[in-house]
Amino acid sequence: MTHVVTADGLDELITALRDDGRTIIGPQARDGVITHDVIDSATELPRGWTEEQNGGRYQLQATGTDERFAYSSPSTSWKRFLYPERTLMLRATRDNGKVQVDIPEPDAPSVAFFGIRSCDLAALGILDRVFLDPDATDPTYAARRPDVFIVAVGCNNPGNTCFCVSMDTGPSPTSGFDLAISELVDDDGVRYLVESGSDRGAELLAGISSKSATDADHARAATAQEHAVASMGRELRSDLGPLAALDADHPRWDDVADRCLACGNCTMVCPTCFCSTTEESTSLTGAESERWRVWDSCYSLEFSHMHGGSARTSIKSRYRQWLLHKLVTWQDQFDSSGCVGCGRCITWCPVGIDLTAEIAALAVPATERSNEGVEA
Ligand code: SF4
Ligand code: SF4
Repeated sequence: MTHVVTADGLDELITALRDDGRTIIGPQARDGVITHDVIDSATELPRGWTEEQNGGRYQLQATGTDERFAYSSPSTSWKRFLYPERTLMLRATRDNGKVQVDIPEPDAPSVAFFGIRSCDLAALGILDRVFLDPDATDPTYAARRPDVFIVAVGCNNPGNTCFCVSMDTGPSPTSGFDLAISELVDDDGVRYLVESGSDRGAELLAGISSKSATDADHARAATAQEHAVASMGRELRSDLGPLAALDADHPRWDDVADRCLACGNCTMVCPTCFCSTTEESTSLTGAESERWRVWDSCYSLEFSHMHGGSARTSIKSRYRQWLLHKLVTWQDQFDSSGCVGCGRCITWCPVGIDLTAEIAALAVPATERSNEGVEA
């Protein structure tokens, strides 16, 4: 079922989802970025905002239009709503010499993700493979994920750091959604083509004020997507299989290690990075103790700490671990790339390190580079 709705129709959609008992998480322009948080109506969507993104740079910009989805990759991904930054794993109390251990039940709020991009939808698919693995199911993720109502939105204006086309994850959502929206902009103003992708999506859409989509509406959406594909900011070379043999002694690893601060920003913003550590805290009296799972990063020295010290002591080894795991060994573990081409790690790297540029440089054998006089 494909219908066309106005901005009021978007509001009706949000109201219907709220009436269904859901908390709506959607995009907002706030604190100088597009971020995701609870929204109660379509008036909170980032109408009239887009952004400029580049390596180490993010700047909101006014469009002067009524478009609500003119931005590209928001600053935050959706993973924190399913895999929170901090999760209480257990609490132990001691009373009269007896120790009681409680493992909290994961809370599972009923939510709708409103406005998820196709790259981020692909990222959810990757997290599903990791956290819903039957042999190692994560209780928090498993309690939250199945019920999430997904409203996806196609990207009309990819950012300078986007490369979803290279990763075959965008710019249009093709599956995994309950509803998918395309923002249509022409002389008649702004309206929304809404397609259902599930029975519950179709049911919701049937209750909204809408018109049947015309051929002209579909053609407008297709043109917008062609434009998006043609204006993709970056690309990542696809022959990463052969690159698995990337030379560990290639001088580019030293070059990138000189620039990398090992701050871990790239892993925090990445919609698929899922590394964590555990933190133990005990009250001063020793009567209470808690264990928390906390996001961690493979860029931290402690992350690979085993008995006797860290396995990856240099930034070079940690950058190499991240890049090769994300793009190459992830294929062996999860049968997919660990990257969906959202570009966040490029935008939010304080020194603008760009994995597409690093791969392009690493793919040129060091001998060829020196023969050609190319600076490594
Ligand atoms: S590695 Fe970078 S571009 Fe790829 S999914 Fe993560 S943040 Fe996005
Ligand atoms: S690549 Fe950039 S964001 Fe990632 S750890 Fe290095 S400096 Fe930080």
